[in-house]
Amino acid sequence: SIYGDYIKSVIRTVPDWPQPGVNFRDITPVLQNSAAFRKLIDSFVHRYQELNLDAIAAIDARGFIIGAPVAYELGCSFVPVRKKGKLPFKTISETYTLEYGESTVELHSDAFREGDRILVMDDLIATGGTMLAAASLIQRSGGHVVETAAIIDLPELGGAQKIRDAGHGVFAVCT
Ligand code: IMP
Repeated sequence: SIYGDYIKSVIRTVPDWPQPGVNFRDITPVLQNSAAFRKLIDSFVHRYQELNLDAIAAIDARGFIIGAPVAYELGCSFVPVRKKGKLPFKTISETYTLEYGESTVELHSDAFREGDRILVMDDLIATGGTMLAAASLIQRSGGHVVETAAIIDLPELGGAQKIRDAGHGVFAVCT
C-alpha cells in the first residue's frame, strides 16, 4: 500500500505481551504521531474513495479508531461491531473459536439495508477469526462485504488466506 513501509516503521512490537512468547503489535505510536495517523487514514481513503461504500463496519475497539475517520472522509455511515453485551438494541451475534476458548461479536439487527456495500475494518488480522465472524454478521444482515481491511496482517498465521478462502477480499496497509 502507498504508505505501508512508513506505517510499519512506526508500529511498535512489544515482546511477551499479553503473555510470554507473544509479540504484540502496538499501533499507539502511529496514533501519537499526527503525520503517521493521517497517512494511515489516507491509505484507506485512497483505496476506497471510488468504491461507493454505504458503510464501514468496524470491530471493537481498535477498529473504531480507524473506521470512524475513514467513514467521515468517505461520507459513508459507520457501524460498530461490538464484543458481546455492549449493544443496547436488538442484535445478531456470531461466536468463533480462539486459541483458548471462544469469543462473540454482535451487530445491531437494523445496522444495514439489504444490499448495502460494506467495508469491514479492524486493526490487525492474526488467525482471521474476528474478521470472518464480523463478515458473516454483515452477510447475515443482508449486507454485501466489499472487502475486509486492516492496518496489519500477520501472514504466517494464515488469517488473510482463510478470509480469502471464504470469498472475501483482504487489504492490509502492511504485513
Ligand atoms: P484473530 O481473530 O486471530 O485474527 O485476531 C485479531 C484480533 O485480535 C483483532 O481484533 C486484534 O485487535 C487482536 N489482536 C491480536 N493480536 C494482536 C496484536 O499483536 N496487536 C493488536 N491486536 C491484536
